[in-house]
Amino acid sequence: MKPASRHQRRLEQAAAACARDGVRLTNIRRQVLGLILAAEEPVGAYALLDRLKADKANATPVTVYRALGFLQEQGLIHKVERLNAFVGCIEAGESHRHDHAVQFLICRSCRAVTEMEDDGIAASVSTAARRSGFVPDHATVEVEGLCAACHGK
Ligand SMILES: [Zn+2]
Ligand SMILES: [Zn+2]
Repeated sequence: MKPASRHQRRLEQAAAACARDGVRLTNIRRQVLGLILAAEEPVGAYALLDRLKADKANATPVTVYRALGFLQEQGLIHKVERLNAFVGCIEAGESHRHDHAVQFLICRSCRAVTEMEDDGIAASVSTAARRSGFVPDHATVEVEGLCAACHGK
């Protein structure tokens, strides 16, 4: 499948998921999601704003942050805190969960980010936190290192 049509398909799945959940994937939300899916790497809010402005000259940071907030809430994108940037959720299809456990493998050389969803890791973090009397809501684990391609060099 060509990358362009893959993005298109993911956008359609996102629209279907929003319709199912009774929320609106407005034009601007759809555009921001499209830009994130089309990006080759995690993309920051201001880079998104720049790209959005090519099409919508009156776009502001608030426009972008609101759309990002919505997309995160819907589980369609994740924020990679370490990079202060956003990626599309790998499992944002028909059956995706809004708040699934997420771990990121972040390559320090090429910045490639791989999303994992390992319930075992999530359970370990939760158990360890509770042992300290802490009640966790949500945990994102970010692991920095070298991806397979960069490691092989
Ligand atoms: Zn995800
Ligand atoms: Zn790499």
